Amino acid sequence: MDLFENTERTNLHELGEFGLIDHLTKNFVISKSTTFKGIGDDAAVLDAKNKKVLVSTDMLLEGIHFDLAYTPLKHLGYKSVQVNLSDIYAMNGIPEQITVSIGMSSKFPLEAVEELYEGIYLACDKYNVDLIGGDTSASKQGLVISVTVLGYADEKDITYRSTAEEGDLICVSGDLGGAYVGLQLLEREKLVYLENPQIQPDLEGKDYIVERQLKPEARRDVVDLLKSRGIKPTSMIDVSDGLASELLHICKQSNKGCNLYEEKIPIDPMTFETAREFGLDPTVCALSGGEDYELLFTIKQADYDKIKNDVDVSIIGYITEPNAGKNLISKSGQVHALTAQGWNAFKG
Ligand code: ADP
Ligand code: MG
Repeated sequence: MDLFENTERTNLHELGEFGLIDHLTKNFVISKSTTFKGIGDDAAVLDAKNKKVLVSTDMLLEGIHFDLAYTPLKHLGYKSVQVNLSDIYAMNGIPEQITVSIGMSSKFPLEAVEELYEGIYLACDKYNVDLIGGDTSASKQGLVISVTVLGYADEKDITYRSTAEEGDLICVSGDLGGAYVGLQLLEREKLVYLENPQIQPDLEGKDYIVERQLKPEARRDVVDLLKSRGIKPTSMIDVSDGLASELLHICKQSNKGCNLYEEKIPIDPMTFETAREFGLDPTVCALSGGEDYELLFTIKQADYDKIKNDVDVSIIGYITEPNAGKNLISKSGQVHALTAQGWNAFKG
Protein backbone atom coordinates (compact mmCIF):
# COMPACT_ATOMS: atom_id res chain seq x y z
CA MET A 1 0.00 0.00 0.00
CA ASP A 2 2.65 2.47 -0.91
CA LEU A 3 0.44 5.34 -1.90
CA PHE A 4 3.24 7.70 -2.65
CA GLU A 5 3.72 6.85 -6.30
CA ASN A 6 6.94 8.65 -7.17
CA THR A 7 9.91 6.75 -5.78
CA GLU A 8 12.40 9.60 -6.12
CA ARG A 9 13.25 11.51 -2.96
CA THR A 10 14.45 15.08 -3.24
CA ASN A 11 15.20 16.70 0.09
CA LEU A 12 13.25 19.92 0.66
CA HIS A 13 16.37 21.60 2.08
CA GLU A 14 17.86 21.56 -1.40
CA LEU A 15 15.21 24.02 -2.54
CA GLY A 16 14.54 26.10 0.56
CA GLU A 17 11.15 27.67 1.32
CA PHE A 18 11.16 30.22 -1.48
CA GLY A 19 12.47 27.72 -3.99
CA LEU A 20 9.73 25.34 -2.99
CA ILE A 21 6.91 27.87 -3.32
CA ASP A 22 8.29 29.02 -6.64
CA HIS A 23 8.66 25.45 -7.86
CA LEU A 24 5.10 24.55 -6.88
CA THR A 25 3.37 27.65 -8.18
CA LYS A 26 5.36 28.82 -11.22
CA ASN A 27 3.18 27.10 -13.81
CA PHE A 28 -0.13 28.21 -12.38
CA VAL A 29 -2.01 30.64 -14.59
CA ILE A 30 -4.64 32.95 -13.12
CA SER A 31 -7.98 32.77 -14.93
CA LYS A 32 -10.66 34.63 -12.96
CA SER A 33 -11.45 38.27 -13.63
CA THR A 34 -11.96 38.73 -9.87
CA THR A 35 -8.26 37.88 -9.33
CA PHE A 36 -6.49 41.23 -9.73
CA LYS A 37 -3.12 39.95 -8.45
CA GLY A 38 -2.30 36.39 -7.41
CA ILE A 39 0.75 34.77 -5.80
CA GLY A 40 3.96 36.71 -5.41
CA ASP A 41 3.44 39.77 -3.26
CA ASP A 42 2.63 40.23 0.43
CA ALA A 43 -1.05 39.84 -0.32
CA ALA A 44 -3.23 38.89 -3.25
CA VAL A 45 -5.57 41.56 -4.62
CA LEU A 46 -9.19 40.75 -5.51
CA ASP A 47 -11.85 42.65 -7.39
CA ALA A 48 -15.31 41.68 -6.18
CA LYS A 49 -17.01 44.09 -8.61
CA ASN A 50 -20.53 44.47 -7.24
CA LYS A 51 -20.90 41.06 -5.65
CA LYS A 52 -20.81 39.96 -2.04
CA VAL A 53 -17.70 37.99 -1.04
CA LEU A 54 -18.04 34.62 0.73
CA VAL A 55 -15.08 33.33 2.75
CA SER A 56 -14.62 29.93 4.36
CA THR A 57 -11.71 27.91 5.77
CA ASP A 58 -11.23 24.22 6.49
CA MET A 59 -8.21 22.59 8.04
CA LEU A 60 -7.23 18.95 7.54
CA LEU A 61 -4.87 17.31 10.03
CA GLU A 62 -3.05 14.03 9.63
CA GLY A 63 -4.29 11.47 12.13
CA ILE A 64 -7.55 13.38 12.69
CA HIS A 65 -8.99 13.95 9.23
CA PHE A 66 -6.86 11.70 7.09
CA ASP A 67 -4.54 8.73 7.33
CA LEU A 68 -1.62 8.66 4.93
CA ALA A 69 -1.60 4.85 5.13
CA TYR A 70 -4.45 4.76 2.60
CA THR A 71 -4.83 8.31 1.34
CA PRO A 72 -2.87 9.03 -1.83
CA LEU A 73 -1.42 12.56 -1.62
CA LYS A 74 -2.97 13.58 -4.92
CA HIS A 75 -6.40 12.62 -3.61
CA LEU A 76 -5.70 14.46 -0.38
CA GLY A 77 -4.87 17.65 -2.26
CA TYR A 78 -8.01 17.28 -4.34
CA LYS A 79 -10.21 16.60 -1.34
CA SER A 80 -8.81 19.48 0.71
CA VAL A 81 -9.99 21.82 -2.05
CA GLN A 82 -13.36 20.09 -2.56
CA VAL A 83 -14.38 20.34 1.10
CA ASN A 84 -13.84 24.08 0.88
CA LEU A 85 -15.64 24.58 -2.44
CA SER A 86 -18.57 22.71 -0.95
CA ASP A 87 -19.02 25.41 1.70
CA ILE A 88 -19.31 28.12 -0.93
CA TYR A 89 -21.84 26.12 -2.98
CA ALA A 90 -23.80 25.60 0.24
CA MET A 91 -24.23 29.40 0.34
CA ASN A 92 -25.41 29.30 -3.28
CA GLY A 93 -22.24 31.10 -4.34
CA ILE A 94 -19.48 30.44 -6.87
CA PRO A 95 -15.94 29.87 -5.55
CA GLU A 96 -13.23 31.69 -7.50
CA GLN A 97 -10.05 31.69 -5.39
CA ILE A 98 -8.31 29.55 -2.82
CA THR A 99 -5.27 29.93 -0.62
CA VAL A 100 -3.44 26.83 0.57
CA SER A 101 -1.35 26.65 3.73
CA ILE A 102 0.78 23.63 4.40
CA GLY A 103 2.66 22.46 7.47
CA MET A 104 4.86 19.44 6.84
CA SER A 105 7.85 17.60 8.16
CA SER A 106 11.13 18.64 6.60
CA LYS A 107 11.60 14.94 5.86
CA PHE A 108 8.72 15.13 3.41
CA PRO A 109 10.31 14.75 -0.01
CA LEU A 110 9.64 17.28 -2.74
CA GLU A 111 7.99 14.60 -4.86
CA ALA A 112 5.37 14.09 -2.15
CA VAL A 113 4.53 17.81 -2.04
CA GLU A 114 4.34 17.78 -5.83
CA GLU A 115 1.73 15.01 -5.73
CA LEU A 116 -0.30 16.94 -3.18
CA TYR A 117 -0.25 19.99 -5.44
CA GLU A 118 -1.17 17.90 -8.47
CA GLY A 119 -4.45 17.14 -6.71
CA ILE A 120 -4.89 20.78 -5.70
CA TYR A 121 -4.33 21.94 -9.27
CA LEU A 122 -6.63 19.30 -10.68
CA ALA A 123 -9.43 20.58 -8.43
CA CYS A 124 -8.64 24.21 -9.36
CA ASP A 125 -8.73 23.35 -13.04
CA LYS A 126 -11.91 21.32 -12.91
CA TYR A 127 -13.81 23.79 -10.73
CA ASN A 128 -12.32 26.86 -12.30
CA VAL A 129 -10.71 28.52 -9.27
CA ASP A 130 -7.40 30.39 -8.94
CA LEU A 131 -4.75 29.54 -6.37
CA ILE A 132 -3.80 33.00 -5.10
CA GLY A 133 -1.53 32.38 -2.13
CA GLY A 134 -0.87 30.47 1.02
CA ASP A 135 1.79 29.77 3.56
CA THR A 136 4.41 27.08 3.95
CA SER A 137 5.89 25.96 7.22
CA ALA A 138 7.74 23.06 8.78
CA SER A 139 5.66 20.89 11.09
CA LYS A 140 7.13 18.73 13.86
CA GLN A 141 4.29 16.28 13.84
CA GLY A 142 2.13 15.33 10.93
CA LEU A 143 0.92 16.98 7.78
CA VAL A 144 -1.47 19.94 8.05
CA ILE A 145 -3.35 21.44 5.12
CA SER A 146 -5.49 24.51 5.57
CA VAL A 147 -7.43 25.87 2.60
CA THR A 148 -9.32 29.15 2.49
CA VAL A 149 -11.81 29.69 -0.28
CA LEU A 150 -13.29 32.92 -1.60
CA GLY A 151 -16.55 32.93 -3.48
CA TYR A 152 -18.98 35.44 -4.93
CA ALA A 153 -22.73 35.83 -5.11
CA ASP A 154 -25.34 38.52 -5.61
CA GLU A 155 -26.73 39.42 -2.22
CA LYS A 156 -30.22 38.25 -3.23
CA ASP A 157 -28.92 34.77 -4.14
CA ILE A 158 -27.06 33.98 -0.92
CA THR A 159 -28.73 31.10 0.92
CA TYR A 160 -28.44 30.80 4.69
CA ARG A 161 -29.20 28.01 7.13
CA SER A 162 -31.63 30.19 9.05
CA THR A 163 -34.37 30.88 6.52
CA ALA A 164 -36.35 27.64 6.12
CA GLU A 165 -40.14 28.10 6.38
CA GLU A 166 -42.91 25.85 7.57
CA GLY A 167 -44.17 23.65 4.72
CA ASP A 168 -40.92 23.83 2.74
CA LEU A 169 -39.74 20.57 1.18
CA ILE A 170 -36.45 19.13 2.42
CA CYS A 171 -34.20 18.03 -0.47
CA VAL A 172 -30.81 16.39 -0.70
CA SER A 173 -28.56 15.81 -3.71
CA GLY A 174 -26.87 12.52 -4.63
CA ASP A 175 -26.74 9.75 -2.06
CA LEU A 176 -25.58 9.52 1.54
CA GLY A 177 -23.48 7.30 3.78
CA GLY A 178 -21.05 6.21 1.05
CA ALA A 179 -18.04 8.15 2.32
CA TYR A 180 -18.43 6.71 5.81
CA VAL A 181 -18.80 3.13 4.61
CA GLY A 182 -15.83 3.68 2.27
CA LEU A 183 -13.80 4.77 5.30
CA GLN A 184 -14.76 1.60 7.19
CA LEU A 185 -13.52 -0.43 4.24
CA LEU A 186 -10.19 1.44 4.05
CA GLU A 187 -9.69 1.11 7.81
CA ARG A 188 -10.33 -2.62 7.64
CA GLU A 189 -7.88 -3.13 4.78
CA LYS A 190 -5.29 -1.08 6.64
CA LEU A 191 -5.54 -3.46 9.62
CA VAL A 192 -5.28 -6.49 7.36
CA TYR A 193 -2.21 -4.98 5.73
CA LEU A 194 -0.57 -4.14 9.06
CA GLU A 195 -1.02 -7.73 10.19
CA ASN A 196 0.33 -9.15 6.98
CA PRO A 197 1.99 -6.79 4.48
CA GLN A 198 1.96 -9.57 1.86
CA ILE A 199 -1.80 -9.28 1.56
CA GLN A 200 -2.87 -6.64 -0.93
CA PRO A 201 -5.93 -4.54 -0.06
CA ASP A 202 -9.17 -6.06 -1.26
CA LEU A 203 -11.16 -3.12 -2.58
CA GLU A 204 -12.31 -5.01 -5.65
CA GLY A 205 -15.65 -3.74 -6.95
CA LYS A 206 -15.87 -1.09 -4.21
CA ASP A 207 -14.64 1.84 -6.30
CA TYR A 208 -17.71 3.97 -5.74
CA ILE A 209 -17.60 4.10 -1.95
CA VAL A 210 -13.80 4.30 -1.82
CA GLU A 211 -14.00 7.31 -4.14
CA ARG A 212 -16.75 8.85 -2.03
CA GLN A 213 -14.27 8.83 0.85
CA LEU A 214 -11.04 9.68 -0.94
CA LYS A 215 -12.16 11.86 -3.81
CA PRO A 216 -15.39 13.72 -3.06
CA GLU A 217 -16.86 16.13 -5.61
CA ALA A 218 -18.44 19.39 -4.44
CA ARG A 219 -21.90 19.84 -6.00
CA ARG A 220 -21.48 22.81 -8.27
CA ASP A 221 -23.83 21.07 -10.68
CA VAL A 222 -26.64 21.26 -8.11
CA VAL A 223 -26.17 25.01 -7.65
CA ASP A 224 -26.24 25.38 -11.46
CA LEU A 225 -29.30 23.14 -11.75
CA LEU A 226 -31.28 25.13 -9.18
CA LYS A 227 -30.36 28.36 -10.90
CA SER A 228 -31.34 27.03 -14.33
CA ARG A 229 -34.72 25.94 -12.96
CA GLY A 230 -35.32 29.32 -11.39
CA ILE A 231 -35.29 27.91 -7.88
CA LYS A 232 -33.76 29.75 -4.97
CA PRO A 233 -33.53 27.35 -2.02
CA THR A 234 -35.06 28.78 1.14
CA SER A 235 -32.14 27.39 3.15
CA MET A 236 -29.05 25.30 2.41
CA ILE A 237 -26.10 23.53 4.07
CA ASP A 238 -23.55 21.00 2.84
CA VAL A 239 -23.51 17.50 4.30
CA SER A 240 -20.12 17.22 5.95
CA ASP A 241 -21.16 15.79 9.33
CA GLY A 242 -24.10 13.55 8.41
CA LEU A 243 -27.67 14.29 7.38
CA ALA A 244 -29.07 14.37 10.93
CA SER A 245 -26.61 16.94 12.20
CA GLU A 246 -27.06 19.19 9.14
CA LEU A 247 -30.85 19.06 9.20
CA LEU A 248 -30.81 19.88 12.90
CA HIS A 249 -28.63 22.92 12.12
CA ILE A 250 -31.21 24.15 9.61
CA CYS A 251 -34.07 23.54 12.07
CA LYS A 252 -32.29 25.19 14.97
CA GLN A 253 -31.13 28.23 13.04
CA SER A 254 -34.50 28.61 11.30
CA ASN A 255 -36.38 27.90 14.56
CA LYS A 256 -38.47 25.19 12.91
CA GLY A 257 -39.22 21.48 13.23
CA CYS A 258 -39.04 18.79 10.57
CA ASN A 259 -40.40 15.44 9.46
CA LEU A 260 -37.74 13.32 7.79
CA TYR A 261 -38.77 10.03 6.15
CA GLU A 262 -36.28 7.19 6.43
CA GLU A 263 -37.57 5.50 3.26
CA LYS A 264 -36.81 8.63 1.24
CA ILE A 265 -33.15 8.93 2.27
CA PRO A 266 -31.06 8.18 -0.85
CA ILE A 267 -28.56 5.38 -0.27
CA ASP A 268 -26.53 3.82 -3.06
CA PRO A 269 -26.87 0.00 -3.34
CA MET A 270 -23.13 -0.54 -2.81
CA THR A 271 -23.23 1.64 0.31
CA PHE A 272 -26.22 -0.35 1.53
CA GLU A 273 -24.68 -3.78 0.95
CA THR A 274 -21.28 -2.86 2.34
CA ALA A 275 -22.80 -1.28 5.45
CA ARG A 276 -24.65 -4.56 6.02
CA GLU A 277 -21.42 -6.53 5.58
CA PHE A 278 -19.96 -4.44 8.40
CA GLY A 279 -23.02 -4.99 10.57
CA LEU A 280 -23.94 -1.31 10.25
CA ASP A 281 -27.40 0.12 9.69
CA PRO A 282 -27.25 1.92 6.31
CA THR A 283 -29.69 4.57 7.55
CA VAL A 284 -27.43 5.34 10.51
CA CYS A 285 -24.48 5.66 8.11
CA ALA A 286 -26.45 8.23 6.10
CA LEU A 287 -27.69 10.09 9.18
CA SER A 288 -24.44 10.18 11.13
CA GLY A 289 -21.62 9.16 8.80
CA GLY A 290 -20.46 12.41 7.31
CA GLU A 291 -18.12 13.56 4.55
CA ASP A 292 -20.64 13.03 1.76
CA TYR A 293 -20.39 16.69 0.65
CA GLU A 294 -23.87 16.63 -0.82
CA LEU A 295 -26.16 19.65 -0.56
CA LEU A 296 -29.12 19.64 1.82
CA PHE A 297 -31.63 22.37 1.07
CA THR A 298 -35.24 23.39 1.42
CA ILE A 299 -37.52 24.71 -1.31
CA LYS A 300 -40.99 26.18 -1.41
CA GLN A 301 -43.72 23.68 -2.27
CA ALA A 302 -44.54 25.83 -5.30
CA ASP A 303 -41.12 24.87 -6.74
CA TYR A 304 -41.77 21.13 -6.49
CA ASP A 305 -42.80 20.70 -10.12
CA LYS A 306 -39.57 22.32 -11.32
CA ILE A 307 -37.44 19.67 -9.66
CA LYS A 308 -39.56 16.55 -9.19
CA ASN A 309 -38.10 14.74 -12.21
CA ASP A 310 -34.45 15.28 -11.31
CA VAL A 311 -33.15 11.88 -10.29
CA ASP A 312 -30.17 13.40 -8.53
CA VAL A 313 -32.30 15.32 -6.03
CA SER A 314 -34.41 13.48 -3.45
CA ILE A 315 -37.23 15.00 -1.47
CA ILE A 316 -36.87 13.49 1.97
CA GLY A 317 -39.31 15.37 4.17
CA TYR A 318 -40.70 18.78 5.05
CA ILE A 319 -40.27 21.62 7.52
CA THR A 320 -42.81 21.98 10.32
CA GLU A 321 -43.58 24.49 13.06
CA PRO A 322 -41.05 24.34 15.91
CA ASN A 323 -43.35 22.67 18.45
CA ALA A 324 -43.96 19.69 16.16
CA GLY A 325 -40.43 18.49 16.95
CA LYS A 326 -37.63 17.18 14.79
CA ASN A 327 -38.82 13.76 13.74
CA LEU A 328 -37.47 10.80 11.87
CA ILE A 329 -40.30 8.63 10.57
CA SER A 330 -38.98 5.08 10.19
CA LYS A 331 -39.84 2.71 7.35
CA SER A 332 -42.35 1.01 9.65
CA GLY A 333 -44.01 4.34 10.39
CA GLN A 334 -42.65 4.87 13.90
CA VAL A 335 -41.76 8.40 14.92
CA HIS A 336 -38.33 8.95 16.52
CA ALA A 337 -36.67 12.14 17.70
CA LEU A 338 -33.93 13.00 15.22
CA THR A 339 -30.58 13.11 17.01
CA ALA A 340 -27.10 13.88 15.76
CA GLN A 341 -24.38 11.53 16.80
CA GLY A 342 -22.57 13.48 14.17
CA TRP A 343 -19.08 12.73 13.27
CA ASN A 344 -17.00 14.05 16.04
CA ALA A 345 -13.86 15.69 14.71
CA PHE A 346 -12.32 15.23 18.14
CA LYS A 347 -13.00 11.53 18.39
CA GLY A 348 -9.28 10.83 17.92
P1 ADP B 1 5.31 36.09 3.46
O1 ADP B 1 6.66 35.96 4.07
O2 ADP B 1 4.93 37.50 3.10
O3 ADP B 1 4.25 35.35 4.23
P2 ADP B 1 5.77 33.89 1.73
O4 ADP B 1 7.22 33.81 1.40
O5 ADP B 1 5.23 32.98 2.77
O6 ADP B 1 5.41 35.40 2.04
O7 ADP B 1 4.95 33.66 0.41
C1 ADP B 1 5.32 34.24 -0.83
C2 ADP B 1 4.17 34.12 -1.80
O8 ADP B 1 3.89 32.74 -2.03
C3 ADP B 1 2.88 34.72 -1.29
O9 ADP B 1 2.16 35.23 -2.41
C4 ADP B 1 2.17 33.55 -0.68
O10 ADP B 1 0.76 33.75 -0.68
C5 ADP B 1 2.58 32.43 -1.62
N1 ADP B 1 2.61 31.10 -0.94
C6 ADP B 1 3.33 30.75 0.14
N2 ADP B 1 3.14 29.45 0.46
C7 ADP B 1 2.27 28.97 -0.46
C8 ADP B 1 1.67 27.69 -0.66
N3 ADP B 1 1.90 26.64 0.13
N4 ADP B 1 0.82 27.55 -1.70
C9 ADP B 1 0.56 28.61 -2.51
N5 ADP B 1 1.09 29.83 -2.39
C10 ADP B 1 1.95 30.01 -1.35
MG1 MG C 1 4.21 33.32 4.51
